[in-house]
Amino acid sequence: MENKRKVSYYYDSDVGDYYYGMSHPMKPHRVRMAHDLIVRYGLYKQLQVYKPLHATLDDMAAFHHRDYLEYLTVADRGGDRATANASLKAKFNLKGDCPVFEGVFRYCQSYVGASLGGAVQLNHGQADTVINWAGGLHHAKTNQAAGFCYVNDIVLAILELLKYHKRVLYIDIDIHHGDGVEEAFFDTDRVLTVSFHKYGDDFFPGTGGPEEVGVDTGKYYAVNVPLDDGMDDASFAFLFEPIMEEVVARYRPEAIVLQSGADSLTGDRLGRFNLTIKGHAACHKFMMKFGLPMLVVGGGGYKIKNVARCWAYETAVLLGVEASVPDDLPPNEYYEYFKPDYKLHLTPDATLKNRNDQGSLARVLRTVLDNLRHIRPAPAGPEQLPGPAGAAQQQLEKAAEAGRRRAEGDARASDQADGMDVDR
Ligand SMILES: [Zn+2]
Repeated sequence: MENKRKVSYYYDSDVGDYYYGMSHPMKPHRVRMAHDLIVRYGLYKQLQVYKPLHATLDDMAAFHHRDYLEYLTVADRGGDRATANASLKAKFNLKGDCPVFEGVFRYCQSYVGASLGGAVQLNHGQADTVINWAGGLHHAKTNQAAGFCYVNDIVLAILELLKYHKRVLYIDIDIHHGDGVEEAFFDTDRVLTVSFHKYGDDFFPGTGGPEEVGVDTGKYYAVNVPLDDGMDDASFAFLFEPIMEEVVARYRPEAIVLQSGADSLTGDRLGRFNLTIKGHAACHKFMMKFGLPMLVVGGGGYKIKNVARCWAYETAVLLGVEASVPDDLPPNEYYEYFKPDYKLHLTPDATLKNRNDQGSLARVLRTVLDNLRHIRPAPAGPEQLPGPAGAAQQQLEKAAEAGRRRAEGDARASDQADGMDVDR
């Protein structure tokens, strides 16, 4: 199948060096493994490859508090030793799941720079689809880290997209509720958020119930699809397709951000769903048919060999060339990780019960579709800005200028990336 969409791909070869700690499930190394498969399958030849420019503290301050960001820069230099102040650490939640480690701020600068650079490219029509597998850190709050996330690249990218697009649709298929993004845009109709996630049994982060629909102007512009353990491909499609069809028909988004957390795959270390890679990627395929500018970011995913497989395959799907990607993995740098079968695709776990029966799926679908009836078709004019952007209008204008400079820089970085980062 011929694909006419221009697909940009952001990759920083340093990403795999950032390290949350030995027993921590989040391994940025998985992005390097995914990249290696993308290269070995030859997919990178069809991508516009960019090395992200690092986002600045000012860029991030469009959403986050400055004192929090400044503290992250201190953590960056000395890791845990530099941030011995227990009360500040507690204030910013830099403990437990969100450890401070050396380079933590540079790590954020890299994945935020990629999402922002991608948004700028979409704004200027330089790409139709942008991929940033290192991004998607959907739990980060304005002044706190949460759920392995420090700086919310998704919120920042959406703020950038809102400069050129009246309505942005955010879709989250990570197994965890996309709480940080939902909260940022809870009171505006400029962004409609849809999150499909495991809900109940005290599963993190505990929010995302069906009654959470947004407030004020944003009422009914937050959509939550609460699910139980064992979701399989058919159950997921049963909800995803009619819900997204209805959302797009009513809301008429001008741009899409898709968070592609891979912890909803079968066999994940933290997740409890049973999706195959094809079932996960069916969401990307479904959204592509609307032909809208789309930023695709990563997210969770804790069985790293499966994350790499998934994001490599989804890169092919976004290029429209998945039919030409063989199931036998090509020889690659991390080949031994993929034993015993050395295949790309996954088989669902036959022993995992799907606790979402047809009746519960139908109830969830009915609730969501009922809520969607309340949304006004194609709301919002360009003059209305959502809370975070309204509060940070000056920052945004400054960021617009920085964005233009970044887009120019990206063009140069692309030349570098073609030579240095890809042909390894
Ligand atoms: Zn997750």
